[in-house]
Amino acid sequence: MTDIQLTESQQAAISALMHDEGVIPPPLALARSAYLPNDGVERDRAQRDPDGFWAEQAELVDWVEPYTRVSEFNPPDHAWFLGGKLNASANCLDRHVHGDRRNQAALIWIGEDGEEHTYTYARLYREVNRFANALKRLGVGKGDRVVVYMPLVAEGIITMLACARIGAVHSVVYAGMGTQALASRIADSGARVVVCSDYTYRRGRRIPLKPTVDEAVRDDPQVQWVVVHRRGSRPGDEPVSFESEREVDFYDIQEPREIHCPPEPMDAEDPLFILYTSGTTGKPKGVVHATGGYMVGVTFLARAFYQIGDRDIYWSTSDIGWIVGHSFIVYGPLSIGATVLVREGVPDYPTADVTWELCERFGVNVMFTAPTAVRMWMSHGPDAPSRYDLSRLRLVACAGEPLNPEAHRWAQEYLVGQSGGMVVDNWWQTEVAGPVLGTLPTFEARPGKVGKPMPGVVADVVDREGRSLPPGQGGLLVLRRPLPYMLRTVWGDHSRYARYWEQIPGVYAAGDIAVRDSDGYFAVLGRADDVMNVAGHRIGTADVEGSLVRHKAVGEAAVIGLPDPVKGERIKAFVVLRKGVEPGPGLIASLKDHVRQDLGPIAQPSEIEVRDSLPKTRSGKIVRRYLKAVEMGEDPGDLSTLAD
Ligand code: AMP
Repeated sequence: MTDIQLTESQQAAISALMHDEGVIPPPLALARSAYLPNDGVERDRAQRDPDGFWAEQAELVDWVEPYTRVSEFNPPDHAWFLGGKLNASANCLDRHVHGDRRNQAALIWIGEDGEEHTYTYARLYREVNRFANALKRLGVGKGDRVVVYMPLVAEGIITMLACARIGAVHSVVYAGMGTQALASRIADSGARVVVCSDYTYRRGRRIPLKPTVDEAVRDDPQVQWVVVHRRGSRPGDEPVSFESEREVDFYDIQEPREIHCPPEPMDAEDPLFILYTSGTTGKPKGVVHATGGYMVGVTFLARAFYQIGDRDIYWSTSDIGWIVGHSFIVYGPLSIGATVLVREGVPDYPTADVTWELCERFGVNVMFTAPTAVRMWMSHGPDAPSRYDLSRLRLVACAGEPLNPEAHRWAQEYLVGQSGGMVVDNWWQTEVAGPVLGTLPTFEARPGKVGKPMPGVVADVVDREGRSLPPGQGGLLVLRRPLPYMLRTVWGDHSRYARYWEQIPGVYAAGDIAVRDSDGYFAVLGRADDVMNVAGHRIGTADVEGSLVRHKAVGEAAVIGLPDPVKGERIKAFVVLRKGVEPGPGLIASLKDHVRQDLGPIAQPSEIEVRDSLPKTRSGKIVRRYLKAVEMGEDPGDLSTLAD
């Protein structure tokens, strides 16, 4: 079968999108100052001479040794800037410290309660170098993996840059993940050092992180050091005490005067980091990004897509635990030399207006956020942002999940209306570390559609045989050519990486369903595989099912994503209980809590239904498609493969 089976709701979404939804013209001022003044020309040029195009962008980065060749592509493998040497932390720090951005703010950190700390480029340089030297003393060297389990604190960013400085490969695990998720990532990466914070703060509550780490490393003999960033900054906060010899304090291991640590010259193809993401099996995928192509990609995109200048205040509401945090909290904007605002906490606490209050206070120019956050702000009343001075906010970029037209228009009116700026959608994923499709401020936005391929991107919508589909027909989103800012492998499992290029031979299958209009604007409708998107976070159905069946009451589990007005999708689970277990509200609560402890709050099902059996194929595979269609009152389609 070559056809892509679309659900009724996807079909309905396509027909709605193909009718003119109205366009938002690009603001003249933005278009005039754009990094790529004529993206059409750039796209043609990149198409004709991709290596020439990327060679030009590579000049945005400082190289220790020049590369000898721009790219090499033997599917599924690709390599960029061959022979070149560079260091990512030197690009984010040294070149600014040795220039006129030395005393400019690199980071402005704000706590949920308003606590504020500023790090100039010179200070950030010293902090990173001190911690890099401390890591070296713990025996961390080039190629070693370091797992980072920290919330959005400056020390988290310092840890990432310190690893990059000495050539260690960081693997940040989102600090909301549970014990099982953390333990499996530590084990898979083979990290001998874990750096964590003792607490995070959320909605005024102090949330301990260390017990999760203690539990995750308890039976892991490979972990030699647990470095703990002890906060205890608020009255009544007791810093945690240490439980074993392998635990050390983040600051105690640093020497105040050791403010220089030479940056390790890294080969362009050396890994910079591993970031785990959900796939269709319960085993997390360690996506590996390479130093050279990644740094060129994110520096270029920070300028060309997000339009961040070195005098700008830039704020991303994401977290270092996600790819957005890597590319567009840390490496991209710091490479440019911008001032990055980082705030720990949720965007509607202590008040629903806190985001706008901070935008006004700091004069934020460019903001990155998620469609979920926009919908949440909308639900707090239409015009809260109008009570604040947002006249400097000229660009709001949204990514991570579909941005529905209503939310797009609301943001255009209330968030950038004062500045005459623009809201831009952009599509990418952990595997591709920056925008691939998007609306550049030089062309009109079409709400509901992401935009066009970025220069250098050759994207297509195809059937299962890889044949291009005409406009208006939904299919698989693929890339026909690799990009420098794309993953090189899956950590420890190159064959799993190869599958991205093998589902349709020779092209990269992103795992999403997309459609395009006759002008080449793409819309991305959702995942084609068993992965859900909850509030912009990719969660594998298999991860949640795996967690449920680890509970002693559960025999079998099936998990689906259902539409949710704010989060995009919410998780519903169906479970078959083991013999002799009685269902009841206490049990459901304990199952939800179990998933929360195991994987973290974002993976907790909002609903769990007990069933006598689950729909399966004759070969025993659970048919989630059937469960979903029934839940949504849609036609479940062909049932001939069902066993029962
Ligand atoms: P992650 O790797 O966790 O960042 O998730 C990436 C996935 O989020 C993509 O494969 C898409 O399914 C979805 N996604 C990201 N950006 C967009 C967007 N602008 N529109 C629609 N879906 C998106």
